[in-house]
Parts: sequence; structure tokens; C-alpha cells
Amino acid sequence: MDDEQRERALAWFRGRIPPACPSCQRASAFDVLDTIVSPNAMLGQEIMVGGPPVPLVGLVCQNCANVRWFSAVMMGMVLETEASIG
Ligand SMILES: [Zn+2]
Repeated sequence: MDDEQRERALAWFRGRIPPACPSCQRASAFDVLDTIVSPNAMLGQEIMVGGPPVPLVGLVCQNCANVRWFSAVMMGMVLETEASIG
């Protein structure tokens, strides 16, 4: 994620999520992870290696390292046509 994307992601979070971390309850600074990640999708009990992308933006608490995941498609960080699941 470049600086412009990082700022866009942080701007998206402002006003949408409360400042306190749901894990440690501290209103410490949050930062986005350096990369958008996409875990493997599941089909029944099978992992679909190379399956449809599920792009996620990670928001990490600078106090307790709790990471929360948000849909990169819904955030507008990834075009819906680039991901099949939003
Ligand atoms: Zn925390």
C-alpha cells in the first residue's frame, strides 16, 4: 500500500469506527497494515487455492497489536471487478 492508499484508508476509518480498541479499550493510535491481504476462500471443507479473492484491509492497534479486518471492496480500496467477494 503506498502513502496515498494508506491515507485514503485512514480517512475512510475516521468517523466510522470508535477510537477505543475493542480488545484493550485504549484510545491508542491505529494504523493500517502495509499490504491488502486476501485469505483463501473455502468451498465446503476444501480450501480453494487460487480461488476468488477476498481482499481485506487490516487495522492494527498500536498498543495491543489487535488486528481488525475490513472489506477492501466496500472501502473502495479495490475495484469490485477485481474481487468476486466483497
Ligand atoms: Zn488494543
